[in-house]
This record gives sequence, structure tokens and C-alpha cells, in this order.
Amino acid sequence: MPELPEVEVTRRSFADRIAGASVQGVHLGKSLRWPLGCDPAELQGRVVHSVQRRGKYLLLRMDQGLLLLHLGMSGSLQFAARLPPRGVHDHFELQTSQGCLRLHDPRRFGAVVYADALDAPSALKLLSKLGVEPLEVGFDPLPFHQALQKRRSSIKQVLLAGDVVVGVGNIYASEALFMAGIRPSLRADRLSKPRAQRLHGAIVAVLQRALALGGSTLRDFSNAEGQTGYFQLDAMVYGRDGLPCRRCETPIKSIRQGQRSTFYCPTCQKP
Ligand code: ZN
Repeated sequence: MPELPEVEVTRRSFADRIAGASVQGVHLGKSLRWPLGCDPAELQGRVVHSVQRRGKYLLLRMDQGLLLLHLGMSGSLQFAARLPPRGVHDHFELQTSQGCLRLHDPRRFGAVVYADALDAPSALKLLSKLGVEPLEVGFDPLPFHQALQKRRSSIKQVLLAGDVVVGVGNIYASEALFMAGIRPSLRADRLSKPRAQRLHGAIVAVLQRALALGGSTLRDFSNAEGQTGYFQLDAMVYGRDGLPCRRCETPIKSIRQGQRSTFYCPTCQKP
């Protein structure tokens, strides 16, 4: 599933190239997770100003209104002056004067939703419950610890929920917890202040490293120029069930938490 680094890598791969483009047409394929929320013909002639990101949503800001794009479980975007003919899994296309933006999404958990403004109900519904951005000013160790104090579920599930801090999905939650030496099943409110601070630093470090490497290619991620990332080559625990820990050689364990696989080292990560 594309996580924050992949979404940010995708944003950077086409934001500059689409800025200033005017919309010439919209193609809708099979229905996505949510309907578009406007008549596609209304978008014609609008000018794309910028592409921003909030959590795992890309915000395509136009001179009037915006499109919120989510890649869901299996989505990826392509942007090019000319694209190959549409395939069966290409369910949204924004044709512009500077190229075509196409959403490829085999599982169709992704979405493209129109909103008149960032504070319009259709945008608020998707964005208002999101936690702080982990790579921006405002993600600080002490408020992070205080927010965890109020939660009784496992730390891994609190990270995944996205309402304390956004964008830390399954891969990077597993990696950050390893880096901080914390067992994923530990209750969030049992984390001491120093351990919460360590986890805070680990989240930032893991996400920045993934960004620098161009995201992860797990589940066939590629950016809007079709390039894949390299993060999975050096994952410490994710996907390494039964393999020796890279730090202490204890076999990595895998457990299920909220229907997702979690990977951890029973020696390096303390309950
Ligand atoms: Zn270990």
C-alpha cells in the first residue's frame, strides 16, 4: 500500500510539470472508493495551480476548487504528455494542456474527490480527522507522548490509525518500532516519555530515509514517471519473517494485529 513517502515521492514527480496546466477533459473508468462529487464537464478549463499533500491525500489545487486524490491499496499515478492506451485498471484520467494524469488502481480502493474549497464538507470529511504531519513543523516529542497517553490500543495500531500522526503505515510503523526498540504489541499509554521520544525520532528518520530512497517498491509502487523506489532493499524487519535480525541474529517474528502483519525482533524490541 502506498504510504506517506510514496505519496510524497509521487507528488514531487509531477507537481512542477502539471502546475499551470488547464484541464481539457476528464475520463472516468469503473467506480472508485468514492464518487467524484461533481459533473466532470465542470472541470474543463480550470487551471491547476499546485499539488500539495495532506497525509496520504494529494490535493490538486485549481484556480477554482480542488481534487483530492488517494491511492488506496494499489493505486499509482502516471503523468506524461502521451500515455499508452488505457488499460482495464485505469479508472481516472485528467487530460490537461501539459499532459495526462492517470490513476491506475487494480483494487479500486483509491479515489478522486472534488471539493469547492479545503473547508468544504466533502474535503473536511476526508481531512479533518488527520493527525499531525510527521515531516513538518508541529510534530514534537512531548505532544506525541501526551497523545499516546490517551490511547489504550497497541502502539502499532495507534500509529496506523493516523489520527495522532498521519502517514505511518504498515511498513514504516514496523521499521520505526524496530529502530526505537519497542515491541509493536505494547499498549500506547504504557510508553514512557523517553521511549515515546525515541519513537518520535525513529518515525522521522525512517520516513526521511524512505523519501530519500524514492519510496518503497513493495506492492509494485512506482512514481508518476514510472520509477520504482529502493526502500525494501534495506528494511530491517518488514517482510523478514523467520530471517535473522540484522542487528542480533534472532529470527524475526511476525504477528497479526488488526488484520495486518507486524514484524519485529523479540530480542531488540522490548515489551
Ligand atoms: Zn534483534
